[in-house]
Amino acid sequence: MSISCGLLPVLNLDAGEHQYEMSEYEGAKARWCPGCGDHSVLTSVQRLLAAEQLIPDQTMFVSGIGCSSRFPHYLKTYGFHGLHGRALPVATGIKLHRPELNVFVVMGDGDCTSIGAGHWLHAMRYNMDMTVMMLDNGIYGLTKNQTSPTTPQGFKSNTQPKGSWLPPMNPIEIALGVTNASFVAQTAEWAPAHLYATLRAAYHHKGFSFVRILQRCPVFTPLIFQQAVQDPARITLMVHDDGVVAPELNNIYSSQVHHDPRDLAAARAMAEQTEKIHLGVFFKDPSKPRYEETRRVAPHTPAERVALLDKELDRYAV
Ligand code: SF4
Repeated sequence: MSISCGLLPVLNLDAGEHQYEMSEYEGAKARWCPGCGDHSVLTSVQRLLAAEQLIPDQTMFVSGIGCSSRFPHYLKTYGFHGLHGRALPVATGIKLHRPELNVFVVMGDGDCTSIGAGHWLHAMRYNMDMTVMMLDNGIYGLTKNQTSPTTPQGFKSNTQPKGSWLPPMNPIEIALGVTNASFVAQTAEWAPAHLYATLRAAYHHKGFSFVRILQRCPVFTPLIFQQAVQDPARITLMVHDDGVVAPELNNIYSSQVHHDPRDLAAARAMAEQTEKIHLGVFFKDPSKPRYEETRRVAPHTPAERVALLDKELDRYAV
């Protein structure tokens, strides 16, 4: 039986079909600091899970190490809290063997762009279907205030007390340069409507959806996004029907640019600009090949696996 009411979507009330509420995706109580931007991301993710009615035992969150990597503990789905920088190898293994699962990855800036950088570039090139969130607060927060690759130049930390001497890495520029990259977006946790719309677009993209989320850390980097938070004119929204659609933001962010996410050259030009923060989908191409499609083989029985293994080992017999 289905019912509809005015403008509300059709509800499917077939017997036995369970409608998941947001609260049913809530795991342990989040232990991030008060005011941490990670709380906002968690709420948007729970909202997405409920909106898409993702079945918890068909959904996997994989993380590395860092404040944001506590994510899997705070969701009532399957989760794998892995090693520093190694979330993506775990996630690609899961997706290759269980392609039907909804795979999400959560990493921090140090986790993804430093120790995990090699995995990051190659996982993007493999373009397996997963939603990848990189929460960028410009610092190693969990290990208490160490310079990360995205720390602003001159910022004083425990590891560089006289100030970071190198210009920060630009993760969007790098992602746009990776062969076979298929989805690159940027959003900010203090703009929840944009954050949610971006995560939704990323989830619906078939391929490796890389989303850099600008994230406030009120403990160690309280000022790095303060100007953008207080003055929306410092942000430019990239708008397009095939990108992020959030009309409720029009009254807040008057600086907008129409950007077709298929235009890689324009995406790169905008990513290079540092005087303004661009939010939205920089690039999207669903036609890029996906590794799980090209490499997936039909499951074998245990006896077939043993026979295949014997055959391989026989190649090395002397
Ligand atoms: Fe969040 Fe910073 Fe606290 Fe970590 S240290 S939980 S990033 S506010």
